[in-house]
Amino acid sequence: MSGAAPPRVALKVDVDTHDGLRDGVAIIRDRLAAYGVPASFFVACGPDAMGRRLPHLLRPGFLLKLLRTRAPSVYGWRTLLSGTLLPARPIAAAFPDVLRALVRAGHEVAVHGHDHARWQDRLPALDAAAVAAEVMRARAVYRQALGVDPRGFGAPGWRCTAASLAAVDDAGFTYRSDTRGDAPYLPAITGRVFRAPELPTTLPTLDEIYGIVGRDPAVLAEHLARRLRPGALEVHTIHAELEGGPYVGVLEAFLARTVGRVRFVRLGDEADALDASALPVCEVRDGTVPGRPLPVARQRSRQRR
Ligand SMILES: [Zn+2]
Repeated sequence: MSGAAPPRVALKVDVDTHDGLRDGVAIIRDRLAAYGVPASFFVACGPDAMGRRLPHLLRPGFLLKLLRTRAPSVYGWRTLLSGTLLPARPIAAAFPDVLRALVRAGHEVAVHGHDHARWQDRLPALDAAAVAAEVMRARAVYRQALGVDPRGFGAPGWRCTAASLAAVDDAGFTYRSDTRGDAPYLPAITGRVFRAPELPTTLPTLDEIYGIVGRDPAVLAEHLARRLRPGALEVHTIHAELEGGPYVGVLEAFLARTVGRVRFVRLGDEADALDASALPVCEVRDGTVPGRPLPVARQRSRQRR
């Protein structure tokens, strides 16, 4: 590696559910502490209505993915019925002490939307006021829990629209991580450029590669490690419900493979170091990524400024 700058790796830990924040976050935090690695936790701030996603999980295209990722063993039946047969439980608001402990341990806590299921499945159908209300509610819950305004926003399901990009700008977020792409940029939709820089997820998620490139943690970790580009910012999204649950071995293998060879960073620090006036402007469009059945927002080709 002499001469070449090491990759910078931001672990973006998405926390989608009540149980994920209660149980999975502590498991991930322990592994990070063992290796002295900081991370950025993106926490859904509203109700855990994951049960409303069951019809989507059971659609034909999802069956393979469900079998590959063993959804019931990942989420548990309480979560899979949450918001339908059983009441939706709060996520961030239920565990402010967990969020504060993350900050004390040197991690970043950011916002992963309010009602994750609603955003992921219905965002394009929501009007601008409804989208703004989702963002403002999430911000208020975060502020209540941590006493400061959030700086980072990560769109549930990597879904975004012009209304959501505008809402995140209007709510005062410093940066966002809403899309899949290869390097930081200023997002644009049909020529309208938004203020807060976007730091996209650059690496595949566990559920996109599990059972495809392999199932063995060392094989999965090697697959990820080989994609790391010298000098680049790599954003790796992991999930409290997966890597903080049955697949903690994959996180362990990834850390064992990369610690000492890469520099682990927090997304907020990377955002602070950006010169927004020098960032490329890139269109955001719905697209696909291998192994993920639903469309996601993707960074498209660069535009001249
Ligand atoms: Zn999520």
